[in-house]
Amino acid sequence: NAHLDGIAKLNPRLNAYITVTAEKALAAAKASDERRRQGTVGALEGIPLAIKDLFCTAGTRTTAGSRILDSFVPPYESTVSQNLLDDGAVFLGKANLDEFAMGSSNTTSASGPVENPWSRANDPDTRLVPGGSSGGSAAAVAARLALGATATDTGGSIRQPAAFCGIAGIKPTYGRCSRFGIVAFASSLDQAGPVARTVEDCAILLKSMAGFDPRDSTSADMPVPDFAKACERGVKGLRIGVPKEYRLDGMAPEIVALWEQGLAWLRDAGAETVEVSLPHAKYALPTYYIVAPAEASSNLARYDGVRFGMRVTEPGSDLRDLYERTRAAGFGAEVRRRIMIGTYVLSAGYYDAYYLKAQKVRALIRRDFEQAYEKVDAILTPATPSAAFGMDEKQDDPVAMYLNDIFTVTANLAGLPGLAVPAGLDGQGLPLGLQVIGRAFDEETVFAVGRTLE
Ligand code: GLN
Repeated sequence: NAHLDGIAKLNPRLNAYITVTAEKALAAAKASDERRRQGTVGALEGIPLAIKDLFCTAGTRTTAGSRILDSFVPPYESTVSQNLLDDGAVFLGKANLDEFAMGSSNTTSASGPVENPWSRANDPDTRLVPGGSSGGSAAAVAARLALGATATDTGGSIRQPAAFCGIAGIKPTYGRCSRFGIVAFASSLDQAGPVARTVEDCAILLKSMAGFDPRDSTSADMPVPDFAKACERGVKGLRIGVPKEYRLDGMAPEIVALWEQGLAWLRDAGAETVEVSLPHAKYALPTYYIVAPAEASSNLARYDGVRFGMRVTEPGSDLRDLYERTRAAGFGAEVRRRIMIGTYVLSAGYYDAYYLKAQKVRALIRRDFEQAYEKVDAILTPATPSAAFGMDEKQDDPVAMYLNDIFTVTANLAGLPGLAVPAGLDGQGLPLGLQVIGRAFDEETVFAVGRTLE
């Protein structure tokens, strides 16, 4: 009830939730109380969570932030949200996001933009973005409208909004969490993960979300360790890499200072910090913005006005006309841009020059990390090149928007776990985050390092 009251009060301003499932939440909370009385308590018994509106929830509308899915009520539950329900969690509602998770500011949602709860702290007229695409999830957690939330990360959509909202968030290793029932954006990059107020809360949530699922062919058949226990390991004797290519010209001095501070904290706690090189990191953004739209253009072909959601048609018109009208009315500008880029880079005559080239560079980026991990146990970088920006900024400059993802996309291209940790404030009192990137399936070290930075 406290969370529902908070939502009633703050959601009209923040717009963090697209759908609030108050009745279902209260019924689930009652059922949870009953389980408690019977002594069958799950790992997340009664914990109120927000679910990004990209996860299919049985019987609850799932929009992916798009007009085209405005009326879509899935008949089934995603594996990740089912895992949370099985552990006793209570869902408060569906969190806002950029349309089809494409964006870094949560301004492309058909349900309207999300406001960062840290907005107007110093300046009542400035509305800041919460980051994206999981901006609703991050804003809900930061504003105390949920104890934690699910999110997804294709190029930074867990870590960047976590950093902008002053909370923690982890994108686990590709394959850790099942993608079954999550609306697909770029299937070889998409991963689910939690956002929460602390690193330890993320560890507890990830333990429930993760695990092998035969319904996702890329799901990893690996045991899920006790991540919360790993938070207490400390960093004594660990070697932490600092990629020299991440020292960008013109980076905000506060970000550089926070990075140095983070390294000093780790050294104080007994770790050794070492310079490493990721020579192909400079190609990561262009590679990502070829691979992700290519896969998106293929995945989004299914929204044809026949199988899901909305349908726009004229009496007497043909099937092609139905497709065109539905897709023109259903998709927003950024989604259309991605479909056009993706279709172009996959088309005959351009495939070798763009898509195939990007796949080759992706392999080199992955190899850079493998070589770095011969020398170090984890890598520390800033999470974002700046603090949260204003809602009106970068809106008509897609490339400026894409540059936001400079520190995060590499982990998706290489399939590695990345954790954003709230680590400090900038001169205006806005939160800044650090990012810990680990070896594949070594989230435990990532959590140990992250916990030390909090
Ligand atoms: N900002 C990136 C994009 O727009 C990443 C989005 C994501 O991780 N879902 O593609």
